[in-house]
Amino acid sequence: MENENHIPESQASKACTDVIDVAVIGAGPAGMTAALYAERAGFDAVMFERIAPGGQLATTEHVENYPGFPDGTSGFDLAFAMKQQADNFGAKTVNEEVVAVDVTSTPKKITTAFGSYEASCIIVATGARPRKLGVPLEDELAGKGVSYCATCDGNFFRGKTVVVVGGGNTAVADAIFLARLCEKVYLVHRRDRLRATAVYHKRLEACENVEILWNTQVRRLFADSGKLAGIEVENTAEHSAQKLPCEGVFVAVGNEPNVEFLQGALELEGGYVKADETGKTSAAGVFAAGDVRAKMLRQITTAVADGSVAAESAAEFLTL
Ligand SMILES: Cc1cc2nc3c(=O)[nH]c(=O)nc-3n(C[C@H](O)[C@H](O)[C@H](O)COP(=O)(O)OP(=O)(O)OC[C@H]3O[C@@H](n4cnc5c(N)ncnc54)[C@H](O)[C@@H]3O)c2cc1C
Repeated sequence: MENENHIPESQASKACTDVIDVAVIGAGPAGMTAALYAERAGFDAVMFERIAPGGQLATTEHVENYPGFPDGTSGFDLAFAMKQQADNFGAKTVNEEVVAVDVTSTPKKITTAFGSYEASCIIVATGARPRKLGVPLEDELAGKGVSYCATCDGNFFRGKTVVVVGGGNTAVADAIFLARLCEKVYLVHRRDRLRATAVYHKRLEACENVEILWNTQVRRLFADSGKLAGIEVENTAEHSAQKLPCEGVFVAVGNEPNVEFLQGALELEGGYVKADETGKTSAAGVFAAGDVRAKMLRQITTAVADGSVAAESAAEFLTL
């Protein structure tokens, strides 16, 4: 995802010797939207990205719940279009990983693996990554039967047999959601009781096509013609194994927000950056947007909404 607004490493420090108005950390949907809005409000926006613009969206094969695309769209194409739109308004990208921030100084300081930068305000949009099962074939079958997002991919498994792995609120909510679409849902949980809050239990019990496998862990995934064909699970209490034929496995064992670089600079809530509906964090002039923010629903729609709100808050901070 390259174009003329990408700053090669060797030029990055030179191009950003001035204090950046709005430094956006992370160029996923939230960060790209924040940069677009900041530029349109008349401020210089520089996105810092450690891998490639697009974030999780760029790795999503097909997106069918982002409004405006009645037939769905490729995640990569949508990410590319978002990047182009931000670039068209003058947003810059520095392809460097942010390793530390100083949010107490004026201006604020951003340290990357290659240098340091100063910014009047910062938007943290570093997203999150789903925790994995850690079994062989998991990466190869991601998007080919293995999913980390029931809201995103559930519809692809209408009338099929699927497995949800996990026992917390997300796993149980996913099982209830998938029970409406799928013929059969196995809920594989490694303990003998759910961690999910009580309110979910009754709703789960009402789903006749959900079967809970207690004390059970996924050991292997099976593929056929490059797609998931089934899984092997082990009951650790009975020391027995069984194979479950299924077309989908939804891994709901938690997410890891990308907050390591903050090193305690901002208040967190459940590991995610605590920010109010305007994106304001515990530090003045620092805003959070997208999956990294403590919130209810982590989707592209909510990420872009957060990005626009955070940029508006940043603009207000810079103007007052
Ligand atoms: C497999 C999969 C399928 C999905 N399908 C859908 C779907 O169909 N519909 C839907 O609405 N949502 C879907 N989602 C969720 C959606 O992709 C996310 O909610 C959305 O991308 C969040 O955007 P974000 O900008 O907050 O974070 P991200 O997309 O995670 O982007 C964050 C960016 O920050 C960068 N970054 C992180 N740390 C640093 C650092 N220290 N320095 C510099 N850069 C950093 C990352 O490299 C990344 O590019 C899916 C997610 C996955 C994993």
